This record gives sequence, structure tokens and C-alpha cells, in this order.
Amino acid sequence: MRYVSTRGQAPVLEFDAAMLTGLARDGGLYVPETVPELAPAEIAALSGLGYEETALRVMRPFTGAAFTETELTRAIETAYRGFGHAARAPLVQLAANHFLLELFHGPTLAFKDFAMQLIGQLFQIALAREGRRITIVGATSGDTGSAAIEAFRGLDNVDVFILFPEGRVSDVQRRQMTTPSEANVHAIALQGDFDDCQARLKDMFNDFAFRDAVGLAGVNSINWARVLAQVVYYFTSAVSLGAPDRAMSFTVPTGNFGDIFAGYIAKRMGLPVADLVVATNQNDILHRCLTTGRYETRGVTPSISPSMDIQVSSNFERALFDAYGRDSATVADAMEELKATGRFAVGDNALSGLRANFRSGRVSEDETLAAIARYRTATGELLCPHSAVGVAVADRLRDPATPMITLATAHPAKFPDAVERAAGIRPALPPRMANLFSLPERMTVLPNDLATLERFVQERRRQ
Ligand SMILES: *Cc1c(COP(=O)(O)O)cnc(C)c1O
Repeated sequence: MRYVSTRGQAPVLEFDAAMLTGLARDGGLYVPETVPELAPAEIAALSGLGYEETALRVMRPFTGAAFTETELTRAIETAYRGFGHAARAPLVQLAANHFLLELFHGPTLAFKDFAMQLIGQLFQIALAREGRRITIVGATSGDTGSAAIEAFRGLDNVDVFILFPEGRVSDVQRRQMTTPSEANVHAIALQGDFDDCQARLKDMFNDFAFRDAVGLAGVNSINWARVLAQVVYYFTSAVSLGAPDRAMSFTVPTGNFGDIFAGYIAKRMGLPVADLVVATNQNDILHRCLTTGRYETRGVTPSISPSMDIQVSSNFERALFDAYGRDSATVADAMEELKATGRFAVGDNALSGLRANFRSGRVSEDETLAAIARYRTATGELLCPHSAVGVAVADRLRDPATPMITLATAHPAKFPDAVERAAGIRPALPPRMANLFSLPERMTVLPNDLATLERFVQERRRQ
């Protein structure tokens, strides 16, 4: 299986090379040359299988010759062993034909663990085989960073540096990044916001001398291997509710468009999906774009669902690439225009293509708080603010005759202040992480300056 860049100017790579590279050298994102399909009988045969077995069957066609079946099987089994729920991604019923897919039973209590734990294992196999070392630098609004640190802590061939916006992540998120004591882990509190973190990360990738000198690798949600790992739970949840004999809809709390893009890939693979609904908070660039056809940045307004506080949604480029009939030149032009002017217009045909695959909705902060309170009372389920955005949008848009699966992207205890404000209950951390607030913290505060950051990485990484 070969992977091509959405901007058409980077080398075509196999799965492992695309995974180790992250961002393509032309600034684009890697996508599979073709999407493999599963026949209805193959999807039906997933019924009753464990999460790991389904993961193997869904991902195997994408990894090609990069990993043997034994390697992939072992990586999957190790990745999900530390999860706090035997089903890995259990479904809970919220109302008639409305289900919640709990994706927060991993080690850092957010859905990012599904992908990050797996790519930690796959990186280790690929690097050991090639005798290579790499430096992972990631930017996070909170959840990606902790998931990456948890996945790569203590690995021999990897040093990991995570940039997070100083003072703008929750205490639980920060402590998950600053308490691991392994020498290969470096938490950097950047004096700026999340967009500054993402921009400096992009700058490092575009500084080819630095990139090659430190063996820079990215694990942000642009990494194709992360998208792929997330395709699996669309299959497990839909099959457990009767797919492929009936279609499901999904609502996905969305920021960088990685999670919902995985749902789109599941659909392209043959899973019957009725609607894919993009749910946004007040930072609604995606909802505005799907509504008006204009993709226009407006700055970020901090919200109670901080992991969705984005200005630019990086994985959207993959959806655009397909909507433009895989015309990489047009995508590259649109991205240049975005960089230069902060906006671009989606062409009419491409917009129809996007609308044929994605619906969207946006909710306010008050509506989010109200959804947390309402579902606590109606079902006993305590929603994190991101999941509440999803549930509120799903309730507005869902067709009662089609099962709706809303993705619960984080555990409520990751965002205790907002949950307490909404429902009057302070959610407790699961017992397996009860010592988080007694461990010592370790982090470095750095200015929003590329040269300073690069020097820090050069000095701290192991040679
Ligand atoms: C990352 C994250 C999101 C957004 O996911 P994308 O793949 O970036 O769209 C939503 N909720 C939570 C809790 C997250 O950590």
C-alpha cells in the first residue's frame, strides 16, 4: 500500500515511512493511494470479535508489507492491554436509537490513546529494525501531548518533546505531561496559545537542516497511522448495533478533523454510514465552511471544551483532497491562499462533495453545560464538555429512525471544573490514576521563539 501527499510534491511512501515522517515534505498530508474495501460478508464476520481482532482485520489492508501479521498483532495487543475496560470502546445507550461510544478508558482518559498507544508500538518495531533514533516533537492543546508522552515514555529509540500553551491546559492534562519521570520525556510550557505551538512545530518541520539533524518525527493528528487506528472503533460500534445490515450515523466532537476523517475512511471501506456529523463548539470554522463554502480563520475563543479550540483544522485538507477529485495542485493553491490571507473559498463541486459526506452543527457554551446537566439527570451518564458538544449537536440533527452513535472523546474527570459547574458533581479520577496529584512535576517554560526551541531540543535529546 502506497501513500501520496495531498499536495502532490512529496515522495510516495510505504506505510511505515509515512508513519515515521508525519507531515509530508511539501507541507501536505499523506493519504492512501486507494482505500481498500471490506465486503459486506467480511464486515458481518466482525460481529462478536474482540476489539483487537477487529483492529487487525480493519488495519491490515492499509499497512501492506510494512509490518508482518505477527508484528501487527503483537503491537495491537500491547497497545490496548493497559485500557481500563475489557471492551476497550464500550457503547452506552442514552435514549432510543442514541448511543454513546466511550473512548476514554485508555491511560490518559481521552480517545487519543487509541491511536497513540498503537503508534508507540509500531514506531518501536520500525525503529529497532532500522537501528534508527528519532525525536518526536508534538504540539498539544492538552490531550495529544499526554497521550504521546504516555505512549513513548521510556522507549529506547525515541525522545519526546511536547509543546503546550502555558496556563491553558487543565490541571489533569498538565500533570499527565509533567509527572512522568523518564529521561526521554520533555514537557515544554510555551508562552503562547495552541496556534503558536502548532505554528512553531510546523516551522521545525520546515527547517529541513534541523529536521534531518535530530530525526524529527511527528505524531500530531496529521499522522496517517493515527487516523487509521481510529477507523477501528467505527467498525466495532456499528457492527455491535447491527451493521452491515443497517446503516448508522455518527456525531463526532471535532477540532483537527482527525477523528471524523477516520469515520469517513470507515465509510469508504464499505461500512454503511448514513450521516457523519461534525460537532463544533464556538470555534466553528468547520461548521461555517460546510454551511457557506468559505473557510475563514477568525482567531480562537477559549472554551470549556479546549481540545476543540482550533483556528485551522489540519486534517480537513484530506477531505478537501478527495472533494477536489484528488487534484493536489488545487489543494496546494487553497492552502497557499489560506497561509497568505487567512481564508479560501471551496469550489462549488468540492463543496457539494463535502456536503454529501459531512453534516455539521455548532453549540454554545450554555448549550454544552445544559447538555451535561440534562444527561446526568436523564441517564446518570456524566459527559465531558467535548462529548456534551457532540451529544447536543446529535440531538439537534439526528433522524430518530437511524441509530446515532455519538463519540465520547474524554473522561469527565479530565475537565472537572466545567462538569461541576454544569451538574454540581465533581467527577473523580478512576482509581488507577489516583496518585496523579501527589507526583512531582517537571517542565520547562520557553518563549514562543523557534531558535530557542530548536536549541532546547538539540541539547536535551539523547545522542
Ligand atoms: C482531540 C480531541 C478532540 C478533537 O478531535 P480531532 O480529531 O482533532 O477532531 C475532541 N475531544 C477531545 C477530548 C480531544 O482530546
